Amino acid sequence: GSEDARDRGLAFYHPARDSYSADRLTLASDLRHALKNDRLALYLQPKLLLKTGEVVGLEALIRWPDHKNPVPADEIIALAEQTGLIKPLTRWVLEQSLAVRSRLLEQGYTLGLSVNISPNNLREKDFPLYVQRLMSSYHSHHGAITLEVTETSMMQDPVNSLAALKSLHATGIPLSIDDFGSGYSSLSYIKQLPASEIKIDRSLVTDLATEAGDRVIVKTTIDMCHSLGYSVVAEGVEKQETLDLLEQMGCDMIQGYFLTPPLPFDDMTAWLDERARQDNSRKIG
Ligand code: C2E
Ligand code: MG
Ligand code: MG
Ligand code: MG
Repeated sequence: GSEDARDRGLAFYHPARDSYSADRLTLASDLRHALKNDRLALYLQPKLLLKTGEVVGLEALIRWPDHKNPVPADEIIALAEQTGLIKPLTRWVLEQSLAVRSRLLEQGYTLGLSVNISPNNLREKDFPLYVQRLMSSYHSHHGAITLEVTETSMMQDPVNSLAALKSLHATGIPLSIDDFGSGYSSLSYIKQLPASEIKIDRSLVTDLATEAGDRVIVKTTIDMCHSLGYSVVAEGVEKQETLDLLEQMGCDMIQGYFLTPPLPFDDMTAWLDERARQDNSRKIG
């Protein structure tokens, strides 16, 4: 699959970066078609609460499984943003995520879904109302869906982003600041955010075991976020040593390949079942 291709360092096709190419126009029309015909998919990656070892949520990540060249998620999103498809794409992702949540409930798993949104979505005047209606049409309680916004995307337009986040927050939907530490927001900005969660960017996390500087930054970030009332997720945890360090630093939650890369729905439920089975045998044994 594409996760393997990425791990092997294979070259990806990046026409989305070349704004005027014919390839990009073809790709954009393929994407429009894929979205219309439900040919996109959501992969799921678990978020683990360190204190209890429980999976407390899943992040939904866009995939385009049957495209001839693997197109990475950030390329799909860049293309959608450039071609006006991001509005319907985000709405598709949100609706699919609520459907995923229902299917998980049927299988006995009560898990919140985290959905990434784009800065363009923050500029849609009707987005908060859409979110509110969507949640009530699925009879979903607040907390069923968390919206993730990257620090960098907010900082493109800090004043309007803050206003948009406040209207979203007013609908009751929890907000998370993604890729934190990869951009440069000021502390006075951070303290005003109506978010409940901060996700520390994987560039600060992956080499924690060997980079003393990263340990200082991550520890300081965790303490600061806790003092401001945010819970903290570390992204990009790839080994046990990193998990142990984060636990010592008081980090709340982790995500990363150490647990599992993002998986399609059936593989994710198989993974959750297997984890539950191991937990039970530990308790009995
Ligand atoms: P993100 O929201 O920060 O998601 C985490 C990314 O890190 C995912 O890449 C995930 O596969 C990858 N990852 C997770 N654990 C590890 C690890 O241990 N090591 C490494 N090296 N990588 C890890 P992915 O799925 O390619 O997504 C890239 C970005 O594209 C996302 O970053 C998010 O910003 C964006 N994205 C993905 N799906 C959507 C979507 O539905 N809507 C929007 N607006 N953006 C999306
Ligand atoms: Mg995210
Ligand atoms: Mg992130
Ligand atoms: Mg990212």
